[in-house]
Amino acid sequence: MTAPLRPGDPKIVTVALGERTYDIVIGRNQIATLGARAAALKPGAKAAIVTDDAVAGLHLKAAEAALAAHGMATNHIVVEAGEATKSFAGFECVCEALIAARVERGDLVVALGGGVVGDLAGFAAATVLRGLDYVQVPTTLLAQVDSAVGGKTAINSRHGKNLVGAFHQPILVVADTSVLDTLPLRQFRSGYAEIAKYGLLGDAGFFAWLEANAREVFAGGAAREHAIATSCRMKAAIVARDEREAGDRALLNLGHTFGHALEAAAGFSDRLLHGEAVALGVVLAAEFSARLGMLAPEAVGRATRHLAGAGLPVRIADVAGGVPDADRLMELMLQDKKVKRGKLTFVLLRDIGAAYISHDVDPALLRAFLAKKLDGQ
Ligand code: NAD
Repeated sequence: MTAPLRPGDPKIVTVALGERTYDIVIGRNQIATLGARAAALKPGAKAAIVTDDAVAGLHLKAAEAALAAHGMATNHIVVEAGEATKSFAGFECVCEALIAARVERGDLVVALGGGVVGDLAGFAAATVLRGLDYVQVPTTLLAQVDSAVGGKTAINSRHGKNLVGAFHQPILVVADTSVLDTLPLRQFRSGYAEIAKYGLLGDAGFFAWLEANAREVFAGGAAREHAIATSCRMKAAIVARDEREAGDRALLNLGHTFGHALEAAAGFSDRLLHGEAVALGVVLAAEFSARLGMLAPEAVGRATRHLAGAGLPVRIADVAGGVPDADRLMELMLQDKKVKRGKLTFVLLRDIGAAYISHDVDPALLRAFLAKKLDGQ
């Protein structure tokens, strides 16, 4: 039986995947426990920490000290911060550095950073020496609630985002919520979009809780931890049911089809961060669901007000520098969607907390909807 939680004890969420089961540890100052946890899982292993040049200056020392305190020899590989690093060149650089450091099959990769570092280091771990174990130490809110959990790793191709990658589950995730204290507010908001998405797609009670407690989540402390743990629990449950996205896992893509198209239109730049694109995409998915008669206008209003209240973009006009026309947006959306018998698969909403996968969206209706949105209607 598990001992009762003491104040300050972390929350533990388990991702149940048979022999690939792992824990997500959530709480303040949990980086300090990284060495004990990693050494228990991989006695005698060396650790190669992959991080970016912004996170290195803030949190690398703490990670190294925690690992060293438990006898783990470490070296580090520092990549340039930013989406451009999730490239073939960035991947080559990390792989070559791991090999140059004489990493062995029994060693460990530690991904210390946001989703960029997590996806890149995870993919390198999946491939170097045909697969190394790795630990995710996510340092952005987005990575703590989303990208560090579930084992999707990838780099971008010139044809689009995340097109080259592997499913490779970490053996542990340590989500230290105190590292979020150094995260810029805009990045925190971007991660919050994914938290709100979980409520909207599958838990009306959680969404109502967020409506009442968003301020506390932004302020930190227990509410922030609760929001992160609840999000991780939802993602863990969906991943446990459908690890390789044969069905249900696609629900996690609520808002992502519109979002990816807008992100691509903005050149995957600071004009529109991933979570900002998701917020806008969720609002568009809700509005489109209402247009199809599936969702009540009041529910659209609640979703929109909540995301706007969190400082997230909710109108296409909010995208700095503007976006292209409906035809180009359709093209970008169809890039990662296959049209089957003239119909599209899309994640839609029938209520707050009730997303569903529709396999018969008419592309012509979608195009007309987008054209109206671009007209500001
Ligand atoms: P990011 O990794 O680029 O981090 C954002 C910025 O914050 C960077 O400049 C970084 O240096 C900085 N930063 C990170 N932690 C910090 C901290 N604690 N204090 C101060 N600055 C800090 O971006 P992200 O939003 O974390 O991740 C986006 C990436 O995640 C995208 O490439 C996206 O495709 C990917 N993603 C993957 C999955 C998945 O399932 N694998 C899911 C969602 C998103």
